[in-house]
Amino acid sequence: MKKLIEGIIDFRKNSLDKYRNKFSKLASQHSPDALFVACCDSRVVPNVFASSDPGDLFVLRNIGNLIPPYDHNPQGNHQIDPSVSAAIEFSLLNLEVKDIVVCGHSECGAMHTILENKSNHACCQLPELNKWLEYANSSYQRFKNNPLTDSLLSPCDLLSQVNVLQQLDNLKTYPQVAQRLQTNQLTIHGWWFDLATANVFHYDQSQEKFVLIDH
Ligand SMILES: [Zn+2]
Repeated sequence: MKKLIEGIIDFRKNSLDKYRNKFSKLASQHSPDALFVACCDSRVVPNVFASSDPGDLFVLRNIGNLIPPYDHNPQGNHQIDPSVSAAIEFSLLNLEVKDIVVCGHSECGAMHTILENKSNHACCQLPELNKWLEYANSSYQRFKNNPLTDSLLSPCDLLSQVNVLQQLDNLKTYPQVAQRLQTNQLTIHGWWFDLATANVFHYDQSQEKFVLIDH
């Protein structure tokens, strides 16, 4: 906690003046450009690698940047975890974002855990985590059936990239997303952040691979 408290003191001393007007304007309303879905990993820092300011991104974070598919079950109940659907609903209906980015990353602990669980046939001692990671089963199947071909990447990183594509497909199962995609009111993007180089890649449909975002 010491580091955090010192960080707040440092921010007040050295940066607050720069942001004072910005925060003052944002206090009553915000109009972010995009819903940004990222992993909880502390090394994934969208505001830093996308040089974005407070108010620019509406961020949803969870382990493995997963979007459980929208569940049309016979009872009409929603999926098990409503926090994801709530964030999607709010960002589209209230904030009227025009873009959704799903961003995976290299060396993702969630992807490591999935691969370990599958190879050892034994679950680690984190039952809640394993329950959550069941939402990535479809990503694992997709990875096994049709992996992206990039010999430079480890299985973990390849699974992470395939996982991004699967989450984009899961996003499309949400009625508000599907309807906006159909009417071109919304664009969805698959991004992948490489920790070691801080490079960000986007999925290029025509090349069927992740391509470096550069000028
Ligand atoms: Zn991760």
